[in-house]
Amino acid sequence: MKAWILDRPAAITQRPLVLTELPRPNLAEDELLLRVHACGICRTDLHVVEGELTVRRSPLIPGHQIVGRVAAVGSRVEGFGIGDRVGVAWLNRTCGVCEFCKTGRENLCESAAFTGWTVDGGYAEYAVAPAAFTYHLPESFDDIQAAPLLCAGIIGYRCLRLTGFSLGEWKGARLGLYGFGAAGHVCIQLARARGADVYVCTRDRERHQALARELGATWVGDAMEEPAVKLDASIIFAPAGELVPVALKAIRKGGTVVLGGIHMSPIPSFDYSLIYGERVVRSVANNTREDGREFLQEAARIPVRSHTQTFPFDQANEALIALKNDSIRGAGVLIVV
Ligand SMILES: [Zn+2]
Ligand SMILES: [Zn+2]
Repeated sequence: MKAWILDRPAAITQRPLVLTELPRPNLAEDELLLRVHACGICRTDLHVVEGELTVRRSPLIPGHQIVGRVAAVGSRVEGFGIGDRVGVAWLNRTCGVCEFCKTGRENLCESAAFTGWTVDGGYAEYAVAPAAFTYHLPESFDDIQAAPLLCAGIIGYRCLRLTGFSLGEWKGARLGLYGFGAAGHVCIQLARARGADVYVCTRDRERHQALARELGATWVGDAMEEPAVKLDASIIFAPAGELVPVALKAIRKGGTVVLGGIHMSPIPSFDYSLIYGERVVRSVANNTREDGREFLQEAARIPVRSHTQTFPFDQANEALIALKNDSIRGAGVLIVV
């Protein structure tokens, strides 16, 4: 099979991913072999390729928003057949026995595997994944539409949950979004469908601010700009620590600022008064399978429409360069077949 591999992290402008011919991966008894059709591009891929996340496997095939069809089924797998259309996300496998796994917090598992970081991912013609961590995909999303839902979508969903609002509290709530890439543009659709007013702060005028307006943002401004009203909660998707005090300044007492990324530049120190008043800052780490299933159902019901920019399979480095330059409108997707 053809696969993109990362031997050693480097700046994306040096094009560190190399297209290689590899044998198809071997299938374990609890796994599925997938013919990959599309793989979403995520900022985490960029963090892996550029070495902001530590190297956990080398060489590595990146990519953790995999849409494909089942090409072979492991001997102990139930509930999947050849030809089923499925998705694989970032959480690849958990131990099932640590204190986090046993208390419904498998996203925090002590020895989890992650697709496209600790195990090979979907920038390839074939991939394997544990059946228990593979999702059946709603028919209403085609392959390209479905890809960005598998990380950008699921993580955005978990961020909304960690704002602490119950479903009944969303109507009329003021939600801030900092950064408006793949996750932001899905998240706003969920928040709007739940009845929230969404305030979007992002530095890219041409694509991100325009898309935010199109998707019904109540207010759109620059990344560091403060809306005229106090917000009830905010989510920071941009990997920029300097936004934390900015977001804290814009929320009301008791409000939560959720940090949605896996990596962030250092957070500058700030006056205690910014967090006083029982304001909360919390991060989001990975997702549970329940998040994934619940999100896919809600997304199909709304229905969420992902705005995508596709890249041919041989343009993996270029796709990540575009992501780095904020020049993707919505979500980037690598078309494998
Ligand atoms: Zn565990
Ligand atoms: Zn991701």
